Amino acid sequence: RAKALGRERHEVFNIAMHTRAVALLHLETDLRQAVNRQEFRLHYQPIVSLSTGQITGFEALVRWQHPERGLVSPGEFIPVAEETGLIVPIGWWVLQEACRQMRQWQGKFLGNSPLTISVNLSSKQFTQPNLALAVHQILQDTGLDAGSLRLEITESAVMENAESAISTLLQLKKLGVQLYIDDFGTGYSSLSYLHRFPIDTLKIDRSFVSRMSGDSENLEIVSTIVTLAHNLGLDVIAEGVETSEQLAQLRALKCEYGQGYFFSRPLDVKAIEVLMARECQW
Ligand code: C2E
Ligand code: MG
Ligand code: MG
Ligand code: MG
Repeated sequence: RAKALGRERHEVFNIAMHTRAVALLHLETDLRQAVNRQEFRLHYQPIVSLSTGQITGFEALVRWQHPERGLVSPGEFIPVAEETGLIVPIGWWVLQEACRQMRQWQGKFLGNSPLTISVNLSSKQFTQPNLALAVHQILQDTGLDAGSLRLEITESAVMENAESAISTLLQLKKLGVQLYIDDFGTGYSSLSYLHRFPIDTLKIDRSFVSRMSGDSENLEIVSTIVTLAHNLGLDVIAEGVETSEQLAQLRALKCEYGQGYFFSRPLDVKAIEVLMARECQW
């Protein structure tokens, strides 16, 4: 009886594995076609200076315009794209398109200082041997000033191999690009390394910001991260700002920038242009 049960379980497990494998294979094939058919789109989410209340730039966020499934969010395909290496061609397209778009917007929306564009780099992309050269080439091709580009790298991507990460970051810095650590607080960043990374800004993960109100412990965590960043000479962006209460708390903590649904969701190009025409101030 025990044996039969074991076998049954084994089979159920196999079927589940098989189903998953088939689904993944299907997704991979689809994704490969999507690269060739150029089915990716960028949405842009404003980043707001908390001192002036004005939009200083955007984060580019990729979506997949699937012929049958409609707009697919990155959480549903980035992991598979990472696993299969497809993230590399997708990532180059994102970088090129985001820089091109920002160059165009800079000519259109003239402010006190040029708008900036943040682009996410996956760990696979971050370890490409020709990364700095490719970034340089894209800046040349699109005519975007290096000072307007920010590259977002997660804590885990830089900690995977900290020594080689430092050298890659230095090459990127040399181009004049700014470097952000994304989702800060969720990975294992060794605090002893943080000051050795030539970075400019920490993005506090949304999970801390969202639990900030009504929870003194989480407020304390955010406050500690802001202090740590400032002691290291870094700016801070709070992700996932959803309420005016959070905004007020972040302002009190002297956090430099905010990003989140309270200001705006990620929007397509047209909607961003409508938003910019309204000259919002928070
Ligand atoms: P991320 O880089 O941390 O981007 C922020 C995510 O938080 C975005 O989700 C954004 O829509 C969401 N978000 C922003 N404000 C709020 C808020 O107030 N509340 C809530 N609940 N969510 C908010 P999205 O666009 O689904 O992207 C998810 C993740 O996918 C990104 O996290 C990033 O890790 C990855 N990703 C997106 N685009 C790219 C890309 O072009 N390349 C790579 N390698 N990864 C990307
Ligand atoms: Mg990001
Ligand atoms: Mg983030
Ligand atoms: Mg995040």
